[in-house]
Amino acid sequence: MERLASLDHELFEALKGELVRINTTIELIASENFVPSVIMEAQGSILTNKYAEGYPGRRYHGGCAYIDIVESLAIQRAKALFGAEYANVQPHSGVNANLAVMHAVLKPGDRILGLDLHHGGHLSHGSRVSITGRVYQAQSYGVSKETEQIDYDEVARIAREIRPRMLIAGGSAYPRVIDFPRFRDIADEVGAYLLVDMAHIAGLVAAGLHPSPVPFADFVTSTTTKTLRGARGGFILAKEQYGPAIDKAVFPGIQGGPIVQNIAGKALCFKIAMGDEFRQYARMVVENARVMAQVIADAGIRLVTGGTDNHLMLVDTKSVGLTGRQAEEALEEVALTVNKNLIPYDTEKPWETSGIRIGTAAATSRGFTPDEMQTVAEVIVKVLRDPASATVKAEALRTVLELCRRHPLYLDQFEYGLLTKKEA
Ligand SMILES: *Cc1c(COP(=O)(O)O)cnc(C)c1O
Repeated sequence: MERLASLDHELFEALKGELVRINTTIELIASENFVPSVIMEAQGSILTNKYAEGYPGRRYHGGCAYIDIVESLAIQRAKALFGAEYANVQPHSGVNANLAVMHAVLKPGDRILGLDLHHGGHLSHGSRVSITGRVYQAQSYGVSKETEQIDYDEVARIAREIRPRMLIAGGSAYPRVIDFPRFRDIADEVGAYLLVDMAHIAGLVAAGLHPSPVPFADFVTSTTTKTLRGARGGFILAKEQYGPAIDKAVFPGIQGGPIVQNIAGKALCFKIAMGDEFRQYARMVVENARVMAQVIADAGIRLVTGGTDNHLMLVDTKSVGLTGRQAEEALEEVALTVNKNLIPYDTEKPWETSGIRIGTAAATSRGFTPDEMQTVAEVIVKVLRDPASATVKAEALRTVLELCRRHPLYLDQFEYGLLTKKEA
């Protein structure tokens, strides 16, 4: 990055700061990951220069022969990886993928039904602050007060009552397996489309560690980011019959030219996700989450639903007398990055919350083993128990930084000479 360093010092310093940050903290935000550098090579490539409106073989711009190869590879691989009939790899993000599906088959004012944001759902499933909640008549279902898991009978009851055009499954803070066949039954009963947004669990689905929604859903949306560990971006899988409508909804419906360098990153991400190494990685993500959940629960700190089946868990920080915000801040002081998160039936405001969300996808990419994740969980327990103790925090920070040193990130991307000795 010598050229960047000399051309734009301010920008370089920010990138360098970020490199130092990721090497001196442990990333536990459940939606984050660290992609292989080879994916960044594809994303930082000459493909950024090309306009390619349209689809392979039918573009509105000339000179797309190689772009067609790139996009066709991504499409074929997405279909093969997930066993889907149709794939669209152009959505710039997960939200765009959802918007495109809705735009393809819904009319403004149609009813949609998704998981409540406050119970682990996503903004783009009909929240009032999202365009999806403005254009469509959005209602939500929640989780059961007792089990804190989706109550499928309740979903069916609401669906019968409001008769949505689209039923949406999937979320951003749901630690348990989702029953897609059951969602299909409910959708069929009320004549609704079924959209499954698998953004968080796509990597686990690819590795066979979470049941696949593909056989059951009309549409599956996802990001390549998160557990799939790929380029930042979105994609859509669907039954063949919806292909033409979705193609039109993505372009020209909600987007212009595709971001071809990101599509190259997606193609590579799908290829990597087909391999044994990725399957081992995904198994380790789940194992690391299980180990952390065990340590936290054994220490008497309450986990929402009592545990986890996937890569994330929700900790009820009120069980140790802290709001989510206080817990997040205490952990940040010892170089652990998590996010405060509403828990089901939370009595706090979204800014304060009663919980934190913890995920293992990023730390596992960095090479953290179950033993090391156990240590991280023990640190979390100690700090949450005694957030005011300077001794506890100093000791915790030492442990975290030692773990960080064992697993350096992307240091080969920077010329060591550009970092001071301390930063390196
Ligand atoms: C993260 C997430 C998205 C949004 O993805 P962006 O790429 O940030 O737009 C959509 N749906 C779910 C369920 C998510 O968790």
